[in-house]
Amino acid sequence: MEIDVIASGSNGNCYKISNEDTALLLECGVPYLKIQEELNFKLSDIDACLVSHEHKDHSKEYKKLLEFGTKVYMTAGTKDALDAKDYRIEILKREDKEFYKYTEVGSFLIRPFKTIHDAKEPVGFLITDLKTGESLTFITDSKYCKYRFSVDYMLIEVNYTAKIINENKELNSKLRKRIKDTHMSLETAIDFLLKSDLERLKKLYLIHLSDSNSDHDYIKESIQKITGVPVYVC
Ligand SMILES: [Zn+2]
Ligand SMILES: [Zn+2]
Repeated sequence: MEIDVIASGSNGNCYKISNEDTALLLECGVPYLKIQEELNFKLSDIDACLVSHEHKDHSKEYKKLLEFGTKVYMTAGTKDALDAKDYRIEILKREDKEFYKYTEVGSFLIRPFKTIHDAKEPVGFLITDLKTGESLTFITDSKYCKYRFSVDYMLIEVNYTAKIINENKELNSKLRKRIKDTHMSLETAIDFLLKSDLERLKKLYLIHLSDSNSDHDYIKESIQKITGVPVYVC
């Protein structure tokens, strides 16, 4: 499985996950031209884009992708929140309150799961490469994650550290509370990782860092210490 970070953070998110025959975009929250440039204008190689929720930093260009022939997947709630009428949108169907039905795109098997965020029906993704058996979890814009995954790769949000956000004078208490209720802290990510089975883990990508409430080096060091695998701060 190849992982390419096109953009990460509250200004826009887009990640490419691929193997020999299938390529997915996770999110399309950056200008279409930037996506094209990053893909060397080979958007036709992309089999589908998965959108986790309706916020613009994740969904911005879904219409353009559809227009130019890329399949776009999202939950019914996300479609509704975007007020998207396009019949071409593929809906991720619920299995129960927490998990969604398996969806196959090329040789990738996708299992969406519920995340904790101020959006209508936000999800994270567990993606398995059916050819190699490798798997990946993608968790972003979520206060915490109660599920545990034994995977080869993780892309996980680390939005802020408790100390920095509490001492940041530029935030009013309402905004501080909103961030804490809807995004993942370093402390929560550490707790999640400590409770996860990391035996198979090969690489870890820390995504969606806040510019003003996080410390790149400190976050990288803290996570590296407990995982022992290469950690990339995106
Ligand atoms: Zn976001
Ligand atoms: Zn969001």
